[in-house]
Amino acid sequence: MQEPFKAILVTRDENKVQSVETREIGLGDLMDGDVIVEVEATTVNYKDGLAITGKAPVVRHWPMVPGIDCAGTVVQSDHSGFKEGDAVILNGWGVGETHMGAYAGYVRLNGDWLIHRPSGMSAHDAMAIGTAGYTSMLSVMALERYGLTPSSGPIVVTGANGGVGSVAISILSKLGFEVIASTGRTDEAEFLKSLGATEVIDRAELSEPGRPLGKERWAGGVDSVGSHTLANVLAMTRYGGGVAACGLAQGMDLPATVMPFILRGVALLGVDSVMAPKPLREEAWQRLTQDLDLAKLHALSKTIGFDDIIDTAKALIDGKIRGRVVVDMKK
Ligand code: NDP
Repeated sequence: MQEPFKAILVTRDENKVQSVETREIGLGDLMDGDVIVEVEATTVNYKDGLAITGKAPVVRHWPMVPGIDCAGTVVQSDHSGFKEGDAVILNGWGVGETHMGAYAGYVRLNGDWLIHRPSGMSAHDAMAIGTAGYTSMLSVMALERYGLTPSSGPIVVTGANGGVGSVAISILSKLGFEVIASTGRTDEAEFLKSLGATEVIDRAELSEPGRPLGKERWAGGVDSVGSHTLANVLAMTRYGGGVAACGLAQGMDLPATVMPFILRGVALLGVDSVMAPKPLREEAWQRLTQDLDLAKLHALSKTIGFDDIIDTAKALIDGKIRGRVVVDMKK
């Protein structure tokens, strides 16, 4: 293990004003855990953007190394499930929020939080998927558990150009679903169609206050946007349909009525990636090896270096990043 190593640190002064900087730290600066992982790749998720910009109170321990997910190799382990040299993935569990996170050369963690990287999946591809893509898979699995199949009808995906949205479109289309992509960046319609969207709609159709019930347009949805968008998605879901809700890019409110539930039997399916139990995580990551087209994954992701993380996080919160961003720690 090479010390010191580079890390991004968010700190707060006595007036609770947040700042972010790149600094050299050592293993002694990390928190407790029974496994140390050398980080090979990480990514920039929406939550990382919130942590770095301080736009929402994601960080709850100061100072904090942000970064909610990574792929790497175990370099030291006192955990029975992992040994030196194991290729692993970490998502969630409060890492990058309350536990020193992935924007560092090494992370020290509770081994129960780790999963073995599926064979054949590189660290780079695991982070091209990242927490956003794994949440897309959880969302699709929630629709399937509810009983939706391609023959049920089209699925609307909101926040289509974002990380969750773009991977969700790719997965759903590979599974044979007809996909309606909702985006504020309609100039990216061709890109969204290349991922598998059959129709692209302007998010303005969904983002304003709407009627309790609208025309039945889709059998289900994957919503990473929340607020009026989710309310309108529900109001336009066909009888017996289901909507997986996983995000709040427009807002955390849900200004809806019960009408879609009580008159059309529509179901709202909550999706959480952070505390998802290990068997569900392992199933989702395994499904990603078969239900996500690698060529599409590469088309929707770009690679940056460690020094680009802070600027990229700000751009992501400004809605300027398309698809997924992989951080190659060696770049
Ligand atoms: P991104 O920033 O990559 O994507 C969000 C997308 O939402 C944007 O690209 C944009 O898509 C759309 N959007 C942004 N602002 C608005 C707005 N004001 N109104 C309507 N649409 C908007 O983020 P991610 O895809 O990584 O994450 C999306 C959401 O999912 C976040 O809220 C995140 O916190 C949540 N999330 C939740 C998880 C969970 O465990 N439940 C796990 C991972 C993410 P477009 O330009 O196409 O309109």
